[in-house]
Amino acid sequence: MGLAYKVRTMYTLTIDQINYACQPEETVLDALLRENINLSFACKKGTCHSCMVRSTDVTPPPAAQSGLKNTLIKQNYFLACQCYPEQDMQIRLPDQSEFYRMGTVVVNKMLNRNTILLIIAFEDAFEFNAGQFVNLQRSDGLTRSYSTANIPEQSNTLEFHIRRLPGGIFSAWLHDEINVGDSIAVSEPHGHCFYLPERREQGLLLVGTGTGLAPLAGILTDALANGHTGPIHLFHGSREVEDLYRIDEMHQLAEQHPNFHYTPCLSGSHVPKGFAAGRVNELALSGIPDLKNWRVFLCGHPEMVNQMKKQVFLKGAAIADIYADAFLISTH
Ligand SMILES: Cc1cc2nc3c(=O)[nH]c(=O)nc-3n(C[C@H](O)[C@H](O)[C@H](O)COP(=O)(O)OP(=O)(O)OC[C@H]3O[C@@H](n4cnc5c(N)ncnc54)[C@H](O)[C@@H]3O)c2cc1C
Repeated sequence: MGLAYKVRTMYTLTIDQINYACQPEETVLDALLRENINLSFACKKGTCHSCMVRSTDVTPPPAAQSGLKNTLIKQNYFLACQCYPEQDMQIRLPDQSEFYRMGTVVVNKMLNRNTILLIIAFEDAFEFNAGQFVNLQRSDGLTRSYSTANIPEQSNTLEFHIRRLPGGIFSAWLHDEINVGDSIAVSEPHGHCFYLPERREQGLLLVGTGTGLAPLAGILTDALANGHTGPIHLFHGSREVEDLYRIDEMHQLAEQHPNFHYTPCLSGSHVPKGFAAGRVNELALSGIPDLKNWRVFLCGHPEMVNQMKKQVFLKGAAIADIYADAFLISTH
């Protein structure tokens, strides 16, 4: 039986009565960026939702609406980076105020040599689930995703751990130019990597590299606050000890909660006493022989996250019990 190939053709995208060509094999985002339309974007993989736009005439292809809330799907919102048009489309670019609200930076301080703790406060409560991520946006539209590290009960604030990436534009801006008192635009929360207060006797395996600790810290706080009774194992890894953080705080939590176990892991050559030597995924897998009935949270480096998803599944974790956020770097 022969394979059926969908032949893509050129379609017209209309914004404010101006027509733009969307070439075959181009996404709506590719076409609009080529036409120098000012549309924010970050991951280009359908994860961050920062390129969401709306069709005002036709129903977008289902693949371009995957992961959106039903309320948005019904209004024909879609992700421009995931949309290969199947017909001409009239498009409305979102108003920033539709999905963003302004917050004020109340803390910006170092957590380790290359990571800052950024706390943003809001006038009203910010509804989110601990571990979800938001998009932060600069006034020129540059947008990046960052995971929340606190729980909603902790006043009207969001806490972030932000690592300076060598050559990275947004992280350098947050490290060097954003000060306490500055305003910043914050999107609504996204993502499914969060704790649900059910099956409290279940084992929880939390594995993260670098600032992957941010969502895991939120998830951990939430699980402990909800009286999770099953064992909770956190493995936090980096190459060098200077790139880990919150080490003492995690040890203290482990002393206070007998069901919480913390293993800081170092993959570099210098491993001081009290740290496990090796890659965080290998150490986590060797530490827990069978993951049947465990809930697993994986956050941080995309390679680690993707590899671990397969490995924990092979060790018995059900797909529905594996939650992951790969910190994808935007492609330029
Ligand atoms: C769901 C999610 C959650 C995240 N959570 C966090 C978090 O909690 N904390 C955190 O620190 N990060 C997080 N990230 C990553 C974050 O969104 C940013 O990608 C990161 O901060 C880097 O952004 P940047 O603008 O500094 O780097 P960019 O400017 O985007 O640069 C990224 C890299 O690409 C290189 N580069 C630059 N220009 C080019 C080019 N033209 N061609 C090729 N390479 C180039 C740079 O040298 C750099 O190494 C998350 C990402 C996702 C998707």
